[in-house]
Amino acid sequence: MMRKITLSAPAKINLTLDVLGSRPDGYHQIETIMQTISLADGVRITAEPGGGIDVTCAAGREWGAERLPPAGPGNLAHRAAVVLAGVTGGRQGAAIVIEKHIPMAAGLGGGSADAAAVLWGLNRLWGALLSGPELERLGAELGSDVPFCLRGGTVLGRGRGEELEELPDLPSAWVVLVNPRLSLSTAQVYRVWNRRADADLSSAKFLEAQKAGGLARAAGAMANGLEAAAFSLCPEVKAILDRLRRAKGILGACLSGSGPTVFGLAAEKAAAEKAAAEFAAAGHWTRLARTLNRKER
Ligand code: ATP
Repeated sequence: MMRKITLSAPAKINLTLDVLGSRPDGYHQIETIMQTISLADGVRITAEPGGGIDVTCAAGREWGAERLPPAGPGNLAHRAAVVLAGVTGGRQGAAIVIEKHIPMAAGLGGGSADAAAVLWGLNRLWGALLSGPELERLGAELGSDVPFCLRGGTVLGRGRGEELEELPDLPSAWVVLVNPRLSLSTAQVYRVWNRRADADLSSAKFLEAQKAGGLARAAGAMANGLEAAAFSLCPEVKAILDRLRRAKGILGACLSGSGPTVFGLAAEKAAAEKAAAEFAAAGHWTRLARTLNRKER
């Protein structure tokens, strides 16, 4: 029986995000196209014979220790293990070490990625034998983005983002990620969000653009309905996004999730590197990543 596994827990970006309205349960109804990217946390899981779950976090190379998520029960990865243990009877335990590379509260779904990796990994290590759909149902209890993180690739999410429809892979692209070294709480951004009268669905437009003109056209059709709310809480994000949109070789740029991370897509590595260097020189957290399809992840 396997006792240890090390997994890559990749981040996501939102190629489009429309907020359709608020719901009685406090969540918002959204429609979003999500995309897996190569920036990833490392999740090392060891199955322990006795019960009990232990979660610790380590800073990735470049990430300051002051910006780590909580160890122990406050970590979403811990909750994932507890939820799975509830299904399997909890006779076995686990020691989980998360190496953080994905910035926190940044709109890149880092906590959800870790939780999904734990569900998937412990399902194997504990021999729980849950199916993909069963794992995704458990994942939805943990967070709206967890089912997507289990699925990966290019996916349309509806409801809170947990009702998934697989889409054709986005043509492979370079992703320039820029974050002004700030965090934004998703709940706060939604509180500030205001319905726009002219709001229409950007996912349909994006898919039409992709069909008509591939990556270049699709990148120009990216949109995020939380942009105005994120800008009002964090004005620097608007300046970064405007600048990224004008950068040479950047086909389109957008806010990811509730921000504050923004990203630009490029077909050429050299253009992506040049744009990334420019933002790094300005003191922003900047990373180069690639889009990953479901099989590469
Ligand atoms: P989303 O795009 O799904 O809204 P996000 O990228 O904005 O997510 P996360 O990084 O997932 O936000 O984390 C949000 C909060 O969850 C953090 O402020 C942190 O305190 C808490 N948290 C708990 N566990 C984790 C984890 N393993 N990784 C990151 N954050 C975690």
